[in-house]
Amino acid sequence: MFDGVAPGPRQALLAGAERRELARGEVLLQEGSPNDRMYLILSGELGVFLAGTGKEAVATLGAGESVGEMSLLDGSPASASVIAQSPCTLLGVDEAGFWALIESSHEVAISLLVKLTGRLRANNATVSQSVILRRRYERAAMFDGLTGIHNRRWLDETLHRLVGRVDGHDGGCLSIALIDIDHFKAFNDRFGHEAGDRVLTTVAQVLARNLRPTDLVARFGGEEFVILFPDTDMQHAYIAAERVRRAVAAEKLVSEGRRLPAVTISMGVAQYQDGQTVPQILKAADGAMYEAKAKGRNCVVVAGG
Ligand code: GH3
Ligand code: MG
Ligand code: MG
Repeated sequence: MFDGVAPGPRQALLAGAERRELARGEVLLQEGSPNDRMYLILSGELGVFLAGTGKEAVATLGAGESVGEMSLLDGSPASASVIAQSPCTLLGVDEAGFWALIESSHEVAISLLVKLTGRLRANNATVSQSVILRRRYERAAMFDGLTGIHNRRWLDETLHRLVGRVDGHDGGCLSIALIDIDHFKAFNDRFGHEAGDRVLTTVAQVLARNLRPTDLVARFGGEEFVILFPDTDMQHAYIAAERVRRAVAAEKLVSEGRRLPAVTISMGVAQYQDGQTVPQILKAADGAMYEAKAKGRNCVVVAGG
């Protein structure tokens, strides 16, 4: 704060300052409480704490640094709690003394500006870090942790969007396929849950590999998946579903170097009917999928024949 101020004037500037000693753990400023002083730290360490960020100090201040000047500049309460982390010696400058310092010393005013600019930069860095973290969380919220493909939440949002696009529009169409792995409980029981997980990941990859770039796939939950076929009627969705079904049945499965028997899937395909809601089209596809199970599994059934 006093960089560039000669010792003589420095003494004069600080004539009205009060020395203050803090024991370890003593609270200097309380977040949200009024503050009418700036403190210059002569020795010791002060921790800065924010409500809601846990027990860790968000910053530590030491000799040569200052605290409390923001309240003096804008008259607002302390923006953080400041607590001695070790015995501290401080110089307290009251409001009148603070403004006298700034008015009579160009160097002090410049130091203060540089210091406040540093805080703004640190704040910007914190904000951009939290934006990056939020994006990461948002991404995680839309993808399935095991298979890496989109999850149920993403599917619900996307299906609502696609339905909104075709509902009431002549000529637009949309089909979906609901997929369920056959006898998967028995597979898990026989080969273990880890092998089962490996199969889920492999099936997800086979589905993704065998679709057109415009088709979309998500894990619906458990051993169930959904494919969305935008701009596709049921005949063409059926052809794509058959291709996918055959690809899954032909896939060679390996887990931890061990060959596993192939798995098969049952599929129900439904084309969106005008006026239908998202749960209704899912229900139609689910009904067709159960028909496929009843027909002996490893096949595709189209809702409505
Ligand atoms: P069906 O042919 O009638 O569909 O028989 P199924 O055994 O596949 O059907 P059921 O719904 O009885 O069993 C589904 C099984 O899927 C039960 C569960 O252990 C397994 N499963 C669900 N999620 C996971 C998972 O994340 N990992 C593994 N390994 N298994 C899962
Ligand atoms: Mg199931
Ligand atoms: Mg199943």
